[in-house]
This record gives sequence, structure tokens and C-alpha cells, in this order.
Amino acid sequence: MATSNPREETNWYKAVDGLRYLEKGLVCFVDNRAQNLYIKFTDVIKRNTNKTSMSCSQCKINNLLPWHGAKALCPHVSNPFKCTGCNVRAKKSRRHCPENICGRFYDLIVHDHYRNEPLWDNTDVSRWTTDYWQIAKCYLSKGYKDKESVRHTDVGGLLSICINSKTIQRDITHLCNFKEVSIS
Ligand SMILES: [Zn+2]
Ligand SMILES: [Zn+2]
Repeated sequence: MATSNPREETNWYKAVDGLRYLEKGLVCFVDNRAQNLYIKFTDVIKRNTNKTSMSCSQCKINNLLPWHGAKALCPHVSNPFKCTGCNVRAKKSRRHCPENICGRFYDLIVHDHYRNEPLWDNTDVSRWTTDYWQIAKCYLSKGYKDKESVRHTDVGGLLSICINSKTIQRDITHLCNFKEVSIS
């Protein structure tokens, strides 16, 4: 950004520097927390299914039914039209994960999202059992489909993951600062 006002220009460069430092610090933090979140989810699924290892590459966001072991577990219990597992029309074209894994991941992600509304555009469901970053990508906004790791993700994306995951939020002392940077 070029500006005719030298002070404005200095402030702008300072702001850019600040964001670069923030990004550097966030990369390690988000990578670590994304791995922990993945371990947390896989532990829950293994415990509930008695599986010792997990593998499935057959599910896609358009053919997967959420697991919802009990109706009350639907995150949209008050508005079933929002839910692909409870909405009768959406349900017709879907089936449960043949390995009984991906639908469980789906539910855990929805429950962990602070608005219970993850955006599925960026993630590749067929890699949920093997790639923790595909889980983290469910907490991003549009435009990160081709970003294959934390290092390819910009500061706005890293902040979104911190703000949108209830689990990761708990490790942040001043979440309001994250929200401020995120909207500025
Ligand atoms: Zn539901
Ligand atoms: Zn599956």
C-alpha cells in the first residue's frame, strides 16, 4: 500500500509486521492444537466403537449421514431442517459410513464448532481418518480448499480455527484479542 502520508505508511508497515509475527506464533500453536483435537476425536471414536485403528476413504460430504446415536444428540435438535441426518430430503441421498467412523467425526466436529455450523467446503472427508488437517479445515471460512497444511494457511484462517473450535478456544486466555484481530 502506498500512501502520501509518511506516518500512515509507517503505521501500515508496522501493522503488516505485527501480523507476520502473529502468524509465526500461531502456526505452531494451531498445528499443535489441531493434532490434539484430532487425537481427542479419534480417542472418542475408538472408545465408542471398540476399534483399535481407523481407516475409511469412501465417504464424501455429499454421501455421508451423520451418526447421531440418539436423536437427542443432534446438534440441531430444535431445527431438524438444518441437519443432513434429520432432514428427510437430505437423508434420502446419503448412507452411514461403512466403517462407522466418518459420521461420528461429523457429529464431533459439529458439536465442537462454536455455532454448530462448520463449513464443509474446504475439507476432504475421505481423508478424515488419516489427516488431522482435514479436520481442522472444517473450522475455516470459504477459500481454503487447496491449503494442505497449517503452513499454507494465512493468519485469518489460523485465527478462525482458534475462534471456531470450542476445544481450542479453551486454551486461549484472551480470546477477545483474537476476535478483534480477526475482524480488523
Ligand atoms: Zn440431526
Ligand atoms: Zn467413512
